[in-house]
Order: sequence, then structure tokens, then C-alpha cells
Amino acid sequence: MSEPLVIIGNGMAAARLVEELAKRALGRYAIAVIGEEPRLAYNRVLLSSVLAGESEMADIELKPADWWRDRGVTLLYGRKARSVDLAEKRVTLESGESVFYSKLVFATGSRALRLPLPGAELRGVCVFRDGADVDMLKRMAAQRERIVVIGGGLLGLEAAYGLGKCGAKVTLVHVADRLMERQLDAPAAALLKQLIESKGIETLLEANTIRILGDGDVRGVELADGRRIAAEGVVFAAGIAPNSELARDAGIETQRGIVVDDQMTTNIDDVFALGECAQHRGVCYGLVEPAYEQARVLAARLSGEGDVYEGSVVSTNLKVSGVSVFSAGDFLGRDGGETISWRDQGLGLYKKLVIESGRLRGAVLVGDASAALWYLELIRSRADISQWRDALIFGRALCERKAA
Ligand SMILES: Cc1cc2nc3c(=O)[nH]c(=O)nc-3n(C[C@H](O)[C@H](O)[C@H](O)COP(=O)(O)OP(=O)(O)OC[C@H]3O[C@@H](n4cnc5c(N)ncnc54)[C@H](O)[C@@H]3O)c2cc1C
Repeated sequence: MSEPLVIIGNGMAAARLVEELAKRALGRYAIAVIGEEPRLAYNRVLLSSVLAGESEMADIELKPADWWRDRGVTLLYGRKARSVDLAEKRVTLESGESVFYSKLVFATGSRALRLPLPGAELRGVCVFRDGADVDMLKRMAAQRERIVVIGGGLLGLEAAYGLGKCGAKVTLVHVADRLMERQLDAPAAALLKQLIESKGIETLLEANTIRILGDGDVRGVELADGRRIAAEGVVFAAGIAPNSELARDAGIETQRGIVVDDQMTTNIDDVFALGECAQHRGVCYGLVEPAYEQARVLAARLSGEGDVYEGSVVSTNLKVSGVSVFSAGDFLGRDGGETISWRDQGLGLYKKLVIESGRLRGAVLVGDASAALWYLELIRSRADISQWRDALIFGRALCERKAA
């Protein structure tokens, strides 16, 4: 008889885990997936393109309903898990239903943070995390409202661009002195700001929001330097927090996220976690690629195969703003190394590579990210690039031609 495997969360990590399991151990488990969102799992990364009007929610579903059915998966979506009883191996849903497991996987992802500012509860304050948020943002933008986006990271830029494309007048306010400061160096961020502003998005740096103004409805925001920006909507894009409370309340070890070892196992036998809710070697990733690597390792573990997850080299790609931006690895050269950079202000192009001991350690690209995957592969594989050193900044084709 199949063992009951219950996955809490019906997001990107859960879908990939089922896919990986289906390749290895179909039949061994009777899988049930519990998902709070009232829809099939979708590609959350592409919510930005739904907001920008470039695709519909139906276009970004990860798998059709038949796919899940054909693999015998019971989908309990539109249902939230309320508690987990480790002794009885039971998950209780908000509806009062119980689901029993032999193995349990947390794939509960993260939530967008709402900064604890005065006015944060006003009507017209939202976040950008799921399909329901996108519906709300589109409604706001359709009324051609003025919207302030708080946060100049990847999510804030994508929200600002999408809202602008839907007709809103957008101001992006960011507390740091440059956009995407965790992914870009100063020249790359300056170029990105210039390109974003050319798309009609006003961008304010070193702008610390201290209050959301309004009376019932949002009327604007106030910055620490006294400036006030009139707005009918505010979007927080100022960070995420792992959804780890359900696990913590059940008695599973959590810190920022749910603590897992190199096989995605928690401190409790038969209980696992992956994706944005998991904390591995002290790191909670906020990107999908690590979740997919973890899904492969966890599927192997659940299938009785040995595989270990040792952490991920992360990269960032900005997709919808009409500006190609990529960064990966130690792009600042924090640990030393040699820097090669190339800039064409007129064409809006910037490239920077960090090399150390004949290996590529980090890269930043703005304007043209066509070489991104190759650079990422070189960083991840720690390949010897000495033979290409002179032409490396110009991309793969030239390097290979020179080597031939
Ligand atoms: C707009 C946007 C753009 C992004 N762009 C990129 C990008 O370019 N590159 C990149 O790498 N990453 C990007 N990300 C991040 C990426 O989407 C996440 O890393 C990925 O979705 C993580 O997968 P996950 O399954 O861990 O979490 P999620 O996909 O968030 O899925 C978790 C699911 O669990 C559900 N859940 C939570 N608690 C419960 C409960 N108690 N009961 C039932 N269900 C529950 C949630 O409702 C959710 O559906 C982006 C995210 C957003 C929002």
C-alpha cells in the first residue's frame, strides 16, 4: 500500500517536488498537497508579467489539472493548514478536516513584509506576492491612480514597471543609495536607475518612508526628510519572511525559517521542508532555483537514494522591466580578485566580471544579459577560464572562436 505523503503549500517548490518524485518513486507514495491559494500551482516568478499585462494567470499555471490527476495526487487547494500534530502525524485544516501522513513536507514559502509604519493598515496599502495581490494592483492601476512602491529591489522594480504599464503614475522610493544594492554595484545601479526613469517611473533614493498618510484611504506617504508624495495606493516591496510559524507551533526547530539538514530533513523524523520556508546552513533563499535544487535532493531522499544539498550559488535576473539585468556570485569582489569592467553609457550597457585564481567568481550585466547563463555556469562549475581571460568580457562566441 502507498504511504501517505502530505505536502503543505501548493507553490513552486511543491510542484517541483511532485515532479521529481514522479520520476523516481511513483506508486510508493499517495501524495496530498494542501494549498491555501484557491488555484492550481503557478509560476510565481511570472506574476510580474501578469501584472504588466503580458500574460494571464491561466498562462502561468505550472501543470494542468490532468497532470496532477494522472499522477494520483490529491489536490486540496483553497484550504489552509492550521496545525500539525507530530505525535498523531496529523495535519488539521482551517475547515476542521484532518489529513494523516506518514511523511510530511513543509513547502509554505514566504509572505511579503508590511513595514510597521503608521498608516500601514489603510485601504490602498498592498503587497505583491500572489494572484490575489495582482488582481488588486491591476484594479488600482486601471483607475490611473498615483502609486508609491516602497522598495527598490527586484520585486519593487517589477511592481513599479507593471503598474506603470497598466496606466498608474508610479513613484519608486528606496531607502538605500542605489537600486538593487544587494545585487548590483554602484555603476550598474546608476545605469538601471537611468533606464527605469526613461520608462516614466520616478525614482527616489535615500528616501526613508516614515508614515503612510490618509484617513481610511491612502492619500500619500511621508519621508524622513519631510517630503510628502501624494498617492492613492502604496505597495510594500520591502522584503519577505519565511512562513515557518506552523512548523514552529508544532514543535519543529525554526530560526528565521524551518531548520533543515543537507537532506532537507527537520529535527523531527519524517518531517521535511524545502523552498523559501526552509533554512539551510543558516540561509533562507528568496529565489526559485535553490528550491528546485532542494526538490531534487528531497525527492532522492524520499526515494531512498543518497543525494545532498550543499547550498546554492544564486543569481538574479530582472525580467519584465524592459531592462536586462543579471548578477551572480561575488560580483563586488569582496574577497579580493581582479575586476574587468566595460561600460557604454550611450547604449545603456555595463558588464563587470570578478576573477580570482583563473576562476570566474561573480558577474553583473546591465542592458545585455545574453551571456548570463554562460557566466553563471562558469561561476557554478568553478571552471578554469585562463584560456579565455582576454575575451571573457565579450561573451562565449568570441572566447570559443579565439580558442579554436
Ligand atoms: C512577483 C514575484 C517575482 C519573483 N521573481 C523571481 C525571479 O525573477 N527569480 C527567482 O528566482 N525568484 C523570484 N521570485 C521568488 C519565487 O517566486 C519564489 O522563490 C518561489 O515561488 C518559492 O517557492 P515556494 O514553493 O518555496 O513558495 P511559494 O511559491 O510562495 O509557495 C508557497 C505556497 O504555500 C502556501 N501556504 C503557505 N502557508 C500555508 C498553509 N498554512 N496552508 C496551506 N498553504 C500554505 C502559500 O499560499 C503558497 O501558495 C519572485 C516572487 C514574486 C512574488
